[in-house]
Amino acid sequence: MTGFPISAQSPITWPGPAPAQADVVVIGGGVIGVTTALFLARDGLRVVLLEKGRIAGEQSSRNWGWIRQQGRDPDELPIMVEANALWQTLATETNVDIGLTQGGVTYLAETDADMARYAAWEPHARACGVDTALLSDAEVQGLIPGMARRYKGAMHTRTDMRAEPWVAVPALAGIAARAGATLVENCAVRAFDIAAGRITGVVTEQGRIAAPEVVLAGGAWSALLLRRHGVSLPQLSVRATVAALDAAPMAYAGGATDSRIAFRPRADGGYSVAAGGFHELFVGPDAFRALPKYLTQLRADPFGTRFLPKAPNGFPDGWGTPRHWAEDAVSPFEQQRILNPEPNAAKVRALCTDFATMFPDLGTPRTKAAWAGMIDTMPDVVPVIDRIAALPGLTVGTGMSGHGFGIGPGVGRVLSALVTGGDPGHDLGRFRCDRFSDGTPMRLGPAL
Ligand SMILES: Cc1cc2nc3c(=O)[nH]c(=O)nc-3n(C[C@H](O)[C@H](O)[C@H](O)COP(=O)(O)OP(=O)(O)OC[C@H]3O[C@@H](n4cnc5c(N)ncnc54)[C@H](O)[C@@H]3O)c2cc1C
Repeated sequence: MTGFPISAQSPITWPGPAPAQADVVVIGGGVIGVTTALFLARDGLRVVLLEKGRIAGEQSSRNWGWIRQQGRDPDELPIMVEANALWQTLATETNVDIGLTQGGVTYLAETDADMARYAAWEPHARACGVDTALLSDAEVQGLIPGMARRYKGAMHTRTDMRAEPWVAVPALAGIAARAGATLVENCAVRAFDIAAGRITGVVTEQGRIAAPEVVLAGGAWSALLLRRHGVSLPQLSVRATVAALDAAPMAYAGGATDSRIAFRPRADGGYSVAAGGFHELFVGPDAFRALPKYLTQLRADPFGTRFLPKAPNGFPDGWGTPRHWAEDAVSPFEQQRILNPEPNAAKVRALCTDFATMFPDLGTPRTKAAWAGMIDTMPDVVPVIDRIAALPGLTVGTGMSGHGFGIGPGVGRVLSALVTGGDPGHDLGRFRCDRFSDGTPMRLGPAL
């Protein structure tokens, strides 16, 4: 890797045109939309997936590539276990190597309190048959040799995986297309089409598509589109920076993190590093509006978020971003084909130094590339996976809260079942949209 692989200059792989009619329209070509389209197409439905920029141009290519069961919310875990199995099957159905590797995931414990939190989570793993183990410091040294830092121990899940997201999600899109889904890039949905109170399709920049069912998997943009139609979702997005370091000898085949740095080897032999537990919020009108819902999260982790006064122009919560627009006017979605925040340069430098301090035998690595993504998050750090009662025909899968890549195929399979009336196979009560407005007490996901 020398630069970030997907950008607004990338060639369009799926030019369309979109058909005028479909059984289901899926909005958003990230891992959630792509896998939803895949399972719907396999069910024999006529599916159209619309992506305003490029497949996987936003979070779904910019993430760390961790496919982890470890540390999940107990209600997410069964879906994630399903996703783990799905990744392994789907990887054999792509015609490219997506870098899927069962290298494990390790959370390094700096304090006894960290170990206690890990010990408290471990029974959830056992209940779902996940092979999570608590390791001693000596076992950590054996697992990840060459680390200069010593730890109290770690939590480790051997069956957790990693993949190269910028390869994996476009490859999944290829499977969806071969299953019969029509994918259209560079085609923003401006509005839902609604008649007599129910969804009848979408209005796109290329015209209308009639469809009785629509799935919104718009990542950081979902709340903006919903708000236009009177549905309020306290979704915000935070910037997270990643640095891709030069090739170095393999220290550990999986992903590991402490409170300062998270790292994993890439398929090209380098390491991707990021600041574990650090992100930045550009404060805009939605942030002010949603603040009361986020107080529990802010109290639990007062220093995990850095606040920046103003989003760049055109970001979902930008001060100047329109909240209402006409169907025949250019919408905020086509004005920002790919949400591409500048990485935090100081953080990139610090990560490089930190990695060199952590692994002194690997020398001082060079940064080959750096990028950032806007993570869409919810007040309780778990997603919304639900049918929207106020708009019959609309299903929403969004707010993956920084861990949607790994669980993506599981959520896609569940969303497709919600659309077809099939069995989602999991209790989705925790992921209801109304939980933020119906008096449900705020229960934070573990955010481990
Ligand atoms: C730096 C970083 C590290 C992360 N690390 C991990 C990790 O290691 N493991 C993990 O599991 N998760 C991780 N995540 C989170 C994970 O990437 C996301 O949760 C996941 O990719 C979300 O997928 P999505 O499909 O919901 O959203 P996205 O990938 O953001 O896709 C949404 C798509 O919808 C499109 N869209 C929006 N509105 C419209 C519209 N109106 N019309 C047409 N198209 C539209 C957008 O252009 C976008 O492409 C990380 C995220 C980041 C940014």
